[in-house]
Amino acid sequence: MTTVFVPKKTHEGETRVAATPETVQKMVKEGFELAVEAGAGARSSFSDAAYEKAGARLVPAAEAGAAWGSAGAVLVVRAPDAGHAAAMSEGAVLIGLLAPYKNAELGRALAARGVSSLAMELVPRISRAQSIDALSSQASIAGYKAVLVAATHLGRYFPLLMTAAGTIPPSRVVIMGAGVAGLQAIATAKRLGAIVEVSDVRPAVKEQIESLGGRFIELPMEASGEGAGGYAKEMGEEFLRRQREIVTQHLSHANVAITTALIPGKPAPRLITREMVEAMRPGAVIVDLAIEQGGNCELSRADEEVHHDGVTILAPSNLAATLAEDASTLYARNVHALLQLLMKEGALAVDTEDEVIAGSLLTHGGEIVHEPTAQSLQEVTQ
Ligand code: NAD
Repeated sequence: MTTVFVPKKTHEGETRVAATPETVQKMVKEGFELAVEAGAGARSSFSDAAYEKAGARLVPAAEAGAAWGSAGAVLVVRAPDAGHAAAMSEGAVLIGLLAPYKNAELGRALAARGVSSLAMELVPRISRAQSIDALSSQASIAGYKAVLVAATHLGRYFPLLMTAAGTIPPSRVVIMGAGVAGLQAIATAKRLGAIVEVSDVRPAVKEQIESLGGRFIELPMEASGEGAGGYAKEMGEEFLRRQREIVTQHLSHANVAITTALIPGKPAPRLITREMVEAMRPGAVIVDLAIEQGGNCELSRADEEVHHDGVTILAPSNLAATLAEDASTLYARNVHALLQLLMKEGALAVDTEDEVIAGSLLTHGGEIVHEPTAQSLQEVTQ
């Protein structure tokens, strides 16, 4: 019987867990033995008792090191340190948000141990893999929470209020980037009653923005900003300059800006400069969700509260973790759906013919199979 191990945490500040009592119960039914480190779900409101009731065996902290070594599969939220990777047994499976583009050394350690590691970030975003798409489930939470964070830092109401003391106009929110996070931010800001304006370079999103009640900021597009796989492509500096000019006018009236603009594998586009911040109203709040890729705002500092010319700039790097219970519930379902794909006749088998499995692999059979990771290691050794 394959043992699936769920460690307590692999990253400082992380609150989420990779399996919940719900997914544990399913995996037990599917024939796995579940070993869950004591306290693994505590920060996402899942008690040890609930895991035990679901059929898991609790592993005390002192035995967690051994559990890494004996498990056939380890489910994590974030990338483990190299020590844990080196403790895994040959042929074991590791699933998690392994930050493949930033973690070449971990890739090397996992390959050396013969671990098959699957990065949730690499799961192809095709219809068949929707239930596995952790980037979407977590980005949606970040988009929702970004609006709440902005609202709590703003000295104003979001909705229009007619009071005995007179009328308060609604807040104006500018959202840049209408992917998964941006669309959820639009929906949340609209529910709170704000006027929402949105900028994106993919013309296809105009309809989605409008169906959520947002106003699309038209840009002088000479060519579509849509690249491969429905993502944005990198736009030239001249386009970005014109975009900033147009967006400046909208930002100067805005109370809140939420930026989510990303281009796969590239630094985040610089959409809000220092001068644009200085043109904003005093009391305005910017929440920059693109900080892991360098940020969309020139003044953003990861996980710091920056005050510049009366404007507050926030760049939280892990907002999903602040909604730990639901983030874990969805993430655990994503991870479980991927584990199910690996199941063949009651055992785990890495079928490299399967497009979703092959696309998600970081290491397999003693090799780093994710090209950019392998390449970056080669560059380091050259
Ligand atoms: P993302 O996080 O890569 O980017 C966020 C947004 O930033 C995108 O909408 C992008 O167009 C926008 N952007 C880039 N440069 C910009 C600029 N200069 N100005 C303004 N906006 C800019 O995107 P995402 O949220 O991961 O998803 C993007 C798209 O991928 C989705 O809308 C969808 O079409 C597709 N998708 C498909 C699936 C699936 O089929 N399973 C799942 C998720 C997403």
